Amino acid sequence: MQETNRTEISTLGEFGLIKHLTQGIEFKNSSTKYGVGDDAAVLEYPDKQVLVTTDLLMEGVHFDLTYVPLKHLGYKAAIVNISDIYAMNGTPRQMTVSIALSKRFCIEDMEEFYAGLRLACNLHNVDIVGGDTTSSLTGLAISITCIGEADKDKVVYRNGAKETDLICVTGDLGAAYMGLQLLEREKTVFKGEKDAQPDFAGKEYLLERQLKPEARGDIIQKLSELNIKPTAMMDISDGLSSELMHICTQSNAGCRVYEEHIPIDYQTAVMAEEFNMNLTTCAMNGGEDYELLFTVPIADHEKVSAMEGVKLIGHITKPELGCALITRDGQEFELKAQGWNPLKEK
Ligand SMILES: [Mg+2]
Repeated sequence: MQETNRTEISTLGEFGLIKHLTQGIEFKNSSTKYGVGDDAAVLEYPDKQVLVTTDLLMEGVHFDLTYVPLKHLGYKAAIVNISDIYAMNGTPRQMTVSIALSKRFCIEDMEEFYAGLRLACNLHNVDIVGGDTTSSLTGLAISITCIGEADKDKVVYRNGAKETDLICVTGDLGAAYMGLQLLEREKTVFKGEKDAQPDFAGKEYLLERQLKPEARGDIIQKLSELNIKPTAMMDISDGLSSELMHICTQSNAGCRVYEEHIPIDYQTAVMAEEFNMNLTTCAMNGGEDYELLFTVPIADHEKVSAMEGVKLIGHITKPELGCALITRDGQEFELKAQGWNPLKEK
C-alpha cells in the first residue's frame, strides 16, 4: 500500500474510477466491437469456437499483500486467465475485470493493479472490455473473465489422451512453489518485525516464478507451426500430479511418468535442499507453474522432442495400470493429488 500520494476512491466514485483505469485502451482485436461504456460489451466471432474462463481471487486466501506488490498481482491475475485459454489451444482476445475493495485501497493502488493487468494484456494482445468495481468490508477480491477463440477443429480438451501417447511438459516445475516458501519465510522482514533486509540473493528466478508467472502462448504458436495438435492439454496451476490425474480420469487412461525427466531448475533444487524438502514432491505438487501439460500421439515423437522448452516425461497407459511416478531407482509410486484445494479439509 502506498502511504504517500493517496487519493481516496470516493473522489472519483465507481464510474469515474472505471473510466480512469480503462482510459487510453486501444482495441487490438477485430472481434472486439464495443468495450467499456454501455450495458454490455459487444464481441463478434463468426465461425469460431468461443472459449470463456473465469477466476476469483480473494485476499488472504489466494494472495498476501504483505509481499505481493499490486502491480504483480494485476499481472498474475491476468496471466492465470490467459493461460487457461492457451490450455484449450486457443487465442485469448478479451477480458473483463471486477474488483471489490475496502477503504484501505486508494486510487493509486488501483492504478498499480491496472498497470500490471494492462501490461499482461498488451503482451498477449488481449482487450479489456468491461468489468465492475464495488466496495468490500474486508480486503480485496478480484474476479477476471477471459474470452478467447479457436477454430472448431483446434480446441484441445482434457479428455483425449490415448494409450501410448507421449506426456509433455513445458518449462520447469516447482519454482513458483519454492518462491512462495521463500516469501513466506521472509515475511517477518516485510512486516518490519526484523531489522534486516529480506535475503533473496541468487533466488531471483524463484521469486519471478511466484510473483510474475508467464502464460505459454509461445508454445501454442509453436505447436501450431509444427502442425501438432495435442490429444489432451491443460495448464499446471495445482501441480503436475493433480493435473495428470485430471487428464487420465477424463481420458479414461493411466500414465507412467519418470522422476528423472521432470524438468527442475537449479535454483529450485538448491532451495528445496535449504528447506529440507523433497525436490520431486515440490515439482510434482507445488503448483502455480502455469506451464502446459499435454499429450501427443507417439507419431509426433520426433517433432516434440526437437521443441525447445518441451520435455517428454512419460506416456499414457491403459486405465487399469493407474497413474504412477517411476523413481530414479525404478520404484513405482501411485500419484496423489496434493494440489491445493481450498474447499477440501486438510
Ligand atoms: Mg487450467
